[in-house]
Amino acid sequence: MNPDQTTSSRALLERLISFATISDQSNLPLVDFIEDHLSKVGAKTRRVPSADGRKSNLMAWFGPQDAPGGVILSGHTDVVPIEGQSWTSDPFTLTERDGRLYGRGTCDMKGFIACALSAAPLFARTALEAPILFAFSYDEEVGCYGAPAMIDEIVADFAKPLAVIIGEPSEMKVITGHKGLHGLEFEIIGKAAHSSLVENGACANTYAIPLLAMLHEEARAMRAAAPHDSRFDPPYGTLTIGQIKGGTADNILAERCHFYSLMRPAPWDDTVAFETRLLAKAAEIEAEMKIYAPQSRVHVRRASFVPPLGKEVQGRAEELARALTGDNMERVVSYGTEAGQFQHAGISTVVCGPGSIAQAHQPDEFIAVSELEACDRFMKNLARRMRKD
Ligand SMILES: [Zn+2]
Repeated sequence: MNPDQTTSSRALLERLISFATISDQSNLPLVDFIEDHLSKVGAKTRRVPSADGRKSNLMAWFGPQDAPGGVILSGHTDVVPIEGQSWTSDPFTLTERDGRLYGRGTCDMKGFIACALSAAPLFARTALEAPILFAFSYDEEVGCYGAPAMIDEIVADFAKPLAVIIGEPSEMKVITGHKGLHGLEFEIIGKAAHSSLVENGACANTYAIPLLAMLHEEARAMRAAAPHDSRFDPPYGTLTIGQIKGGTADNILAERCHFYSLMRPAPWDDTVAFETRLLAKAAEIEAEMKIYAPQSRVHVRRASFVPPLGKEVQGRAEELARALTGDNMERVVSYGTEAGQFQHAGISTVVCGPGSIAQAHQPDEFIAVSELEACDRFMKNLARRMRKD
């Protein structure tokens, strides 16, 4: 390993950590720093800002934009909050103890971004046959809201890429599957009335029951649908009802009932069909309620959606990541990432990044120096592989 490269990754990580890019804060100072750094070494860059302009995705690339077969290195710039956590040292000052670098975002996932930035001069001086594209997003930690607009631009403006590497912490192992996230918000509006006069109102709580029962049945069906060789833990996709609020007193028909469901679909679960069934049921219930109270409504709103990552048949990203790391084990994880979004857009995708997910989101989050070194080797191997010869 070139020791200079790791020194550089470490120095860059120190800078990246100093920006407190918690998801509710602007990430623009960090984006300014990264864009400036990459422009100086010759990258072309483009921002894809949020609607309110407070945050931005950043794309930066080396090599020919119009050549197919490029490789995307994807990372998110935001980090989770530190509230309520007890830290030994300042979370936004990189601190080394016993071969570990402590700080918020060290492993999730500024370590990967630091290694990508430190490899930038190498990418810049390599004659690449296809682009190496950095795709750095915002708002990943709060529901992967930033990346989709950037993915749209990549699909529209770049030749078909070969692969995406999502640098979420996996100890540089190749991850070919993860569950997704599909949250629905239900709001049932009926009509309040004295509970003795049941024909004078429509009880939102009562009409919530068939929807809740249906969610329960869907959860059972997902459990039964898991293939025998599933590697997930638990082996099936899950569906839970996290919060229910409805009504005001025992002797009043509830005017409103509000609840959330959260599905964590496995790659084989069909979220579109699920949503269609729920919407049909909601419409049926609304029609029934209107017989008693014409103002009744059953609203179903999608609160979150991150597609799962499924193992591809002869996946190009998997093949690439295995060649670069030497890892040949089959692995899936239960955390969600932007990988599903890239795969959903038709780009071959795996997760492979430095650090352990066990340290992510924790107080005293750290990345081992050895993990940064492994990621630096990965970048070097990537440059060699992408070289025109
Ligand atoms: Zn992450």
